[in-house]
Amino acid sequence: MVRSYFLLGIALLLLASCGSDEPIPARIQSLASASDVPTAPTASELELIFLGTGGIYLQSGDQALLADPFYSNPPILDWVLMRETPVRTDVIDRYLPPLEPVKAILVAHAHHDHAMDVPYIAGKTDPQVPVLGSTTLRNTLFTAIEPERLIALNAKAAGPDNAGEWVPVNEYIRILPILSGHAPHLFGKVFNSDVVEQPLSSMPKTVIGWESGQALSYVIDFLQDGQPRFRVYYQSSAADAADGLPPSWLLQDGKKVDLALLGVANHRRLQQYPSVLLQHLQPRQVVLLHWDVFWDEYSQQLTRPLPGLDLPGLVQKIEQALPPGVPVYLPGRGARLRLQESL
Ligand SMILES: [Zn+2]
Repeated sequence: MVRSYFLLGIALLLLASCGSDEPIPARIQSLASASDVPTAPTASELELIFLGTGGIYLQSGDQALLADPFYSNPPILDWVLMRETPVRTDVIDRYLPPLEPVKAILVAHAHHDHAMDVPYIAGKTDPQVPVLGSTTLRNTLFTAIEPERLIALNAKAAGPDNAGEWVPVNEYIRILPILSGHAPHLFGKVFNSDVVEQPLSSMPKTVIGWESGQALSYVIDFLQDGQPRFRVYYQSSAADAADGLPPSWLLQDGKKVDLALLGVANHRRLQQYPSVLLQHLQPRQVVLLHWDVFWDEYSQQLTRPLPGLDLPGLVQKIEQALPPGVPVYLPGRGARLRLQESL
């Protein structure tokens, strides 16, 4: 495992040094980071802020949710040399959106680029705010976050053998976990894909210490009077169907998916992602996540595409599934997208 991780690091170093000048296909609209901070969205609006990698902040009225917030971006050389990776509290404090409205923190899987900054951020939120993810996430963060805040959702997740169930956060937000997957990194393998069965005695200190465990996707409903006002589908790592597919009962409940947030790193290693997923979801809008380099010094001035991202290949797969009028956005770090209820 150590050797293959070393090879992954070397391969990424080589690719990263080649750079990437891929033009953005016309089908995809770039969303730039705006320097001015607008007024908070009202309850009849939903705002997405892209944080970088799989990280998102969703807010409607005074209700907000964070998922996979990640700013520390350890450099690849630190992965390869298995150096200790510091949580960049300075960067987090500078860029993190307001935490007062945050009602839950979601984590899709427990690799370092999804989970390592979560304890520091959870420590800054209201101590009642739950951290929702897999059993592996709970066991990995067991000593870093009060255990009563760590909620494992595996048993409530929709999947081949389970219809799944809504997990209420409060009367305004509910979450449906879905068993999902993770695209291979290299040689058909997902590195660090173990399940952590028991609580760890301390948090991982190196990149290689973060095991993914079961990946989860989520449907996030913002509610009014018990009915969904906005519906968001969130999948922060690419995965081939049936992983991540929403259950049929959800697609038949009369509420459309307003926003599909899709991680696209390594999508080219998967034949049918995201085409099959999008055929099912038929969302009103799509935002691409995890398309950016996540081993640079974090800033919102510059967001660089992953080496070998292959946006033209991605557009081909999207066009197999969606009508031409459905917007597909590629956000820079810090970019915002605001939806109106009338959409
Ligand atoms: Zn991962």
